Amino acid sequence: MSTFKAPKGTYDLIPPYSAKYLAVRDAISGPLRLSGYGYVETPGFEDVDLFARGVGESTDIVTKEMYTLTTKGGANLALRPEGTASVLRAALEANLHKAGGLPVKLWYSGSYYRYERPQKGRYRHFSQVGAEAIGAEDPALDAELIILADQAYRTLGLRNFRILLNSLGDKECRPVYREALQAFLRGLDLDEETVRRAEINPLRVLDDKRAEVQKQLVGAPMLRDYLCDACKAYHEEVRALITAAGVAFEDDEKLVRGLDYYTRTTFEFVHDGLGSQSAVGGGGRYDGLSEMIGGPALPSVGWALGVDRTVLALEAEGVELDIPPATSVFAVALGEAKPVLFGLVTELRKAGVAADISYGGKGLKGAMKDANRSGARFAIVAGDRDLAEGVVQLKDMESGEQGPVAVADVVGVLRTKLA
Ligand code: AMP
Repeated sequence: MSTFKAPKGTYDLIPPYSAKYLAVRDAISGPLRLSGYGYVETPGFEDVDLFARGVGESTDIVTKEMYTLTTKGGANLALRPEGTASVLRAALEANLHKAGGLPVKLWYSGSYYRYERPQKGRYRHFSQVGAEAIGAEDPALDAELIILADQAYRTLGLRNFRILLNSLGDKECRPVYREALQAFLRGLDLDEETVRRAEINPLRVLDDKRAEVQKQLVGAPMLRDYLCDACKAYHEEVRALITAAGVAFEDDEKLVRGLDYYTRTTFEFVHDGLGSQSAVGGGGRYDGLSEMIGGPALPSVGWALGVDRTVLALEAEGVELDIPPATSVFAVALGEAKPVLFGLVTELRKAGVAADISYGGKGLKGAMKDANRSGARFAIVAGDRDLAEGVVQLKDMESGEQGPVAVADVVGVLRTKLA
């Protein structure tokens, strides 16, 4: 062991376990790539003000959780805590919204950083795959994203997740509701911190998990009763489209998101096998964000799914992913056979067969141990005498059967056997 360890709240992805992460990223991005979403990659850090905009509780939260740094040149940067603001910034900077038709549909995959109190499922460095559809207000787009996330989870074999759905209203109806809720909250007996929250972001008080708070919230005005006709109609259409796609969801009128740029459609994917960190993904509509960061009005919708928690959810359900073996064929060279077998391994790899060879000048016993450890289905073994006869010994590692195959036929024979 070295004298260093991974920093608190982080962990390393080590093979073979790390293969699960690749499989999850592939499964989430697969449906997006089939649905017109283009891949976008943005820097791991941004101008701090991209994330910490203006005032308000969500800025407060974001600021507390952000890793910030000042460069030698004096720029204030932050490690990205989320993807949406960066992707929107990149789309605006590249003028994607002017280049072609709207919406601009983008997907991304990467690392995110939050200075949180670490616990199972909550890390300071974690990974997400996300999707954003920028510049269109259309219930079909909101529905599309929810359906694609559902499809991704189902492809992975996940079953015990639920989709929670709500509408947060828009800039017309939410302020009216906000005031009504605030008036109600002012009449309650709440602690100082919650009173403060009620003034800055009252909707989040509804989300308070404490029983003594929830008890007092009975009879609180609900946003559903304040939605304007346009928001109501929009939400009904989203619900109808998701239902028609056969995707089950639960209406959760208390669902609010941590960040205050969300409007209208809001959703979360929760998994019941994960304890307190049950959200595996979440998203919604953020019609005002573009203007908040200096862009034109671009109503947009998106989600981010957590890769770490998706892996935990798969484990909680006991789902074994269908991950191909890292090595299918392992070569064991004896005597002077190394160059020939090394050449065969190179050919196999070119032909798309996962192949490896023993390194370090080991004898038969050590090299066969490597072959066993690799999990390979077949071994090709050859020494000077085999090569003099123009063959290698092909060993089936499951049955133990072994027989000679002409060097020239090895690649073809193995491809057929592995097909
Ligand atoms: P959020 O932007 O907070 O809605 O995050 C979207 C998803 O990312 C969540 O549903 C989680 O799956 C994942 N996520 C967020 N924060 C963390 C964290 N600290 N550690 C692990 N996963 C996280």
